[in-house]
Amino acid sequence: MKYEKRLEGDDIVFILHGLIEVRIPKKFYEKCRERYGEEGTISFCPYKSIYNAITKRRLYYISKESNVPLIGHNAFGIIDRGTNLLQVRPITGCNLNCIFCSVDEGISRTRITDYIVDLDYILEEFEKIVEYKRKYCESIEAHIDGQGEPFLYPWIEKLIKSLSEMADIVSIQTNGSVLTKKMIRKLDGYLDRINLSIHSLDERKAKLLVGKKDYDLHHIMEIAKEISSSNIDLLLAPVWVPGYNDDDIQEIIEFGKIIGAGKKWKAFGIQKFVKYRFGRIPKGVKKMDFRTFFKKLEEMDKSLILSREDFGMVKCKELPKKFRVGERVKLKLEMHGRIKGEMIAIARERVIQVVDTNKKLGDYVNARITRNKDNIYVAKEI
Ligand code: SF4
Repeated sequence: MKYEKRLEGDDIVFILHGLIEVRIPKKFYEKCRERYGEEGTISFCPYKSIYNAITKRRLYYISKESNVPLIGHNAFGIIDRGTNLLQVRPITGCNLNCIFCSVDEGISRTRITDYIVDLDYILEEFEKIVEYKRKYCESIEAHIDGQGEPFLYPWIEKLIKSLSEMADIVSIQTNGSVLTKKMIRKLDGYLDRINLSIHSLDERKAKLLVGKKDYDLHHIMEIAKEISSSNIDLLLAPVWVPGYNDDDIQEIIEFGKIIGAGKKWKAFGIQKFVKYRFGRIPKGVKKMDFRTFFKKLEEMDKSLILSREDFGMVKCKELPKKFRVGERVKLKLEMHGRIKGEMIAIARERVIQVVDTNKKLGDYVNARITRNKDNIYVAKEI
């Protein structure tokens, strides 16, 4: 096990893989170490608290033994939206702090909890879902994404390589900041496409948009070139934030064309900034409706307008739903939710987000299911 150890106040702090922070009060650490040894203490000491070392939020480690299903939440696990593409979400938490982030990641006002899923567990569950989906569609894509940066997942290389044995296509979204040329070379032959977010080629603007003064745009551009020169396809995915990077989109397109993005699929996935209830809204962002957005894309280049077919996505029977919308359920609150006022319950092999609640862990609530779309479950107390 790779870890660093240090003393912080009255706590012994272990940092595993640069990401998982395990804190144990010194007085309990001594007792645990006598009993379990140093490494055993990290795993078994019952007095530990776990945090995400990057976001500093409480972190749940979700393993098979935790009995937390991997279907039902939109922040972690596996999402099946009724197509041949399965979203694989092994981790939450981001090292950037984009001023437009739809999930308020990085330094956050709203997020209070992070999740990380055990490698073997997510692979085992993925295999079962693929077995089901293969009865209804031929080609399966595993798309690693999530509310955060997937390359912060300590076992990302193994995850990608193992997924490539089960799925026909493996793709991933990344902000590129922790991705290295060495890692790209290791993933060549296993990973089919990288969707790389890059929002400006102007260093000052790029730093402003990602909310980090030490953001290294040069590194991201080098990473883009390295991907293009490998067998992995590159899709550049800028978010167009009207009033901020209007002139930059064309420059990103030119850059992508020069380096040879989009060898197999489309080279660009330009997204329009959209306001979300719990997302960040940049100061002074200009309004742009979708009609104008698509018109502007068309004026630049018709091929910038994407469709599901561009990525080989087809409908494919979804996993059976376990709850009806409107159904009354009695639920036990088992974990803290992603944001304040949200808790997570477990029932019928699904996780359910119970929203707008002030109940505590271990409490039971009478609730009504308000969402079951894509097997993502939300319930409200009644
Ligand atoms: S890289 Fe993505 S997840 Fe991270 S802060 Fe930016 S938009 Fe949010």
